[in-house]
Amino acid sequence: MAKVYFMDDRSQSNQTSLVAKMLTLFDTAGFGNMIKPNDVVAVKLHMGEYNNTAYIRPVYVRALVDKIKSLGGEPMVVDTTTLPYFTYASRVTALDHLKTIARNGFTQSTVGCPIVIADGYIGTDDVRIDLPEGFILKEQYVGTGIALADSMILLSHFKGHPMGTYGGALKNMGVGCASKRGKLNLHLGGHPKYGLRTRPYVPERCKGKECPDWEICANICPEGAITMTENGIEWNSEGCIGCLACLPMLAMCGVAMPPDDYFDATAAAIADSALAAAKAIGEGKVGYINLALDIAPWCDCVSYSDRSIVPNLGIFASWDPVAIDSACLQKATEAGGMPGSVAMAKGVMDPGLPKFTACGSFMGISEEIQPNVGQKIGLGTRDFELIEVPPADDDTAFLFTTIPAGAKHKKAFAKKGDIYPPGGFKRADEVDLEDMR
Ligand code: SF4
Ligand code: SF4
Repeated sequence: MAKVYFMDDRSQSNQTSLVAKMLTLFDTAGFGNMIKPNDVVAVKLHMGEYNNTAYIRPVYVRALVDKIKSLGGEPMVVDTTTLPYFTYASRVTALDHLKTIARNGFTQSTVGCPIVIADGYIGTDDVRIDLPEGFILKEQYVGTGIALADSMILLSHFKGHPMGTYGGALKNMGVGCASKRGKLNLHLGGHPKYGLRTRPYVPERCKGKECPDWEICANICPEGAITMTENGIEWNSEGCIGCLACLPMLAMCGVAMPPDDYFDATAAAIADSALAAAKAIGEGKVGYINLALDIAPWCDCVSYSDRSIVPNLGIFASWDPVAIDSACLQKATEAGGMPGSVAMAKGVMDPGLPKFTACGSFMGISEEIQPNVGQKIGLGTRDFELIEVPPADDDTAFLFTTIPAGAKHKKAFAKKGDIYPPGGFKRADEVDLEDMR
């Protein structure tokens, strides 16, 4: 049985700030024990798509980076390039990715260490991992910058996800540590049964140049597998590598729908890919932290963030990625849905109902696939003990300074002299507040 350490999201003191809770869980889980002096420690997180607003705030990352430095480690914040995924993706190259995350608040100066796009400029700098134990993937490609790290803190935002149904540790590890070609692999590009190449294609539904979006479709495919002619769309399925860029457009108008079981098979492949990243870094070298906060129905990889489907659940830490995600899923199921959210629209407001199967996926794909596959392939266990951790006794580790305000600022106040104007402020002596209440 795996241990999952947990603290809720209530916060009313220095020791119970959510940043303090994350650090308390880091210590309780013993993540510091895997960090030796001068070890390169990756902090892996998703830093958000353009205009997404639910992603993990930079302050959590800075606090972890400072913690790793205090233990003698050499931290680096890492992520990887993405597939195009949709029409206007913003993290497909390292260049775009760095621009997007800087806009989201992540730079070397904010996080306190270099940020490395671990699979290189276009996403082909990777390490191949053999996966004979994989459920569907038998090999996978992990970003070099992640595979070569001495250890890793996987800092994951737990929320919904359109492909995996939910996104947590397994998705952050499986999709986020895979290089671009690793992502093509796990999204089953070119797969003979589940790949997009096999999707039902109904070109007669294309309105051709009468469609207001025809020029977008003419320019959507980076492989040149889609062309627009006088007669409408022409798709060369053999040339399709499954990059997903055209998926939403072609599905919306009914020209090409994903093949049967595409999302189920992708969710399974995410767990395989997570195992590849774990193998690349090494046993006992990854500590998992899930922030189950701002639990939007969809991922940080879309360029908007909907209302949370359940209230904040809290912060979780474990050495087991399957157990930590299982604990988060259980907490989400136990929670009531958020009024006015997708949970209400989908009829899953009652405690006891799975939330992500209804709210995260397109077609009711089971939220259990990722952890079930993770357990089957030996990545972890669904059998967990949830251990509620009390706040730290001492708050000094979480303070900006341990010098009280008076002692710290007395000299500056005295030097400026007129912080409180010598004659006092110009104000009414008394007002009628009753009318304002
Ligand atoms: S494939 Fe769909 S979106 Fe594209 S031009 Fe045809 S009808 Fe329009
Ligand atoms: S046809 Fe295939 S390769 Fe081209 S945009 Fe669509 S998914 Fe990508």
